[in-house]
Amino acid sequence: MRVVVVGGGAAGVFCAGLVAGGGNECILLEKNERIGKKLYITGKGRCNVTHYCTARDFLDGVVTNAKFLTSAIYQFPPQSTIDFLESHGVPTKVERGDRVFPVSDKANDIISAFEKFARSNGVQIKLNTSVKDIVVEDGKIVGVKTNNEFIPCDRVVVATGGKSYSSTGSTGDGYAFAKKLGHNIIEPKPALSALIVDGVDGLAGLSLKNVTAMAIVDGKSIDSHFGEMLFTHDGLSGPIILTLSSLINRYYEGGKFISQVKVSIDLKPALDEEQLDKRLLRDFSSTPNAAIKNVLSALCPKSLIPIILSQARITPTLAVNSVTKAQRAKLLNTVKHLTFDVKDMARLDFAIVTKGGVDVSQINPKTMESKLIKGLYFVGEVLDVDAYTGGYNVQIALATANCAAKACLE
Ligand SMILES: Cc1cc2nc3c(=O)[nH]c(=O)nc-3n(C[C@H](O)[C@H](O)[C@H](O)COP(=O)(O)OP(=O)(O)OC[C@H]3O[C@@H](n4cnc5c(N)ncnc54)[C@H](O)[C@@H]3O)c2cc1C
Repeated sequence: MRVVVVGGGAAGVFCAGLVAGGGNECILLEKNERIGKKLYITGKGRCNVTHYCTARDFLDGVVTNAKFLTSAIYQFPPQSTIDFLESHGVPTKVERGDRVFPVSDKANDIISAFEKFARSNGVQIKLNTSVKDIVVEDGKIVGVKTNNEFIPCDRVVVATGGKSYSSTGSTGDGYAFAKKLGHNIIEPKPALSALIVDGVDGLAGLSLKNVTAMAIVDGKSIDSHFGEMLFTHDGLSGPIILTLSSLINRYYEGGKFISQVKVSIDLKPALDEEQLDKRLLRDFSSTPNAAIKNVLSALCPKSLIPIILSQARITPTLAVNSVTKAQRAKLLNTVKHLTFDVKDMARLDFAIVTKGGVDVSQINPKTMESKLIKGLYFVGEVLDVDAYTGGYNVQIALATANCAAKACLE
């Protein structure tokens, strides 16, 4: 039995190594000059390779199609990733938020371990080889056409990734293969993505810690997260914003929002309005003649003050002893609910993961085999699955790869 795996990312390399390790001939085709280009940039070059938790808890971190992933994650839970890496010379450590990294802090060590695993099991890795077509005759896999040859095979595993960070090779080719072979493609959208908002002039680079960001859709709060966020030159980013974006994108279709979306930031979540009012009064009374814009710097970052005062409709030069009770109430409310209209999501190419892809209702969740074409499998980000930050997405790539590899060995 000859298996061709298309795509040398986490999913493809792991799958190929398992298939060859089980005794089947396996050819891995990667269009780049090396494998694992995306893995190299994961976790800011450190690769947050999985999330330290049980299979059950892992599924809570999956945003799209957690039910579909249940079997895959139970078959290959986070501990299996840790065990695999440890037994292949990559000790791991667990950091804040149950994020698992290699002890060396080098994504490259993870890529090398996977590559060594694949090569030592006998996988034939063909680099600079772009698959152009998957050939099916009478409903059966016949082979793949690459940029320079036809490779006959019995099974094909498509591990071509999503459509974000296309410079790493993930250009959405797998969607075209799947579509041509009759599969439904759920619209690819940005997930774990920055949000474009108005009114952030002068804030680029400002990072806020210990704040709560809430997503409001058509006037209703849909989710909120506590932690760290960042202002960019045209919007909001950072961990809690990325997390919110993976739910906000449900209201994003055809490149625009279909609902009114806002993000409201509580700059002082540890204080209720009464405590905050007392704090303000204390600050005001210590310098009664000072301009409010100067007094507020004790409460929040300087660069945020013009925006807070503008949203509270208070003149920045107003002396604090002239601030009325109503103005103070408005100010308090703004500090607890600094609100930005979300105009757009960052381009799909800049998203950490792609939501959408091959419709999982046409895929067997135990084997990742297409329900339409025997011997055709889809693994990793090419599927319509996505999860929060924290090591979930690489784990999904490995777990789905494990399912397909096992099935190819049956
Ligand atoms: C900046 C960034 C940081 C991230 N950090 C993390 C993190 O720390 N933890 C985490 O869990 N997730 C992280 N992710 C997400 C994670 O990297 C991906 O979800 C995961 O790597 C997907 O693996 P994959 O194997 O499915 O696809 P990919 O890694 O995208 O691999 C697909 C491969 O297929 C190849 N290919 C595509 N088309 C063809 C073709 N026609 N012929 C031949 N080869 C082809 C591509 O060149 C590519 O090498 C991050 C993503 C980004 C962009």
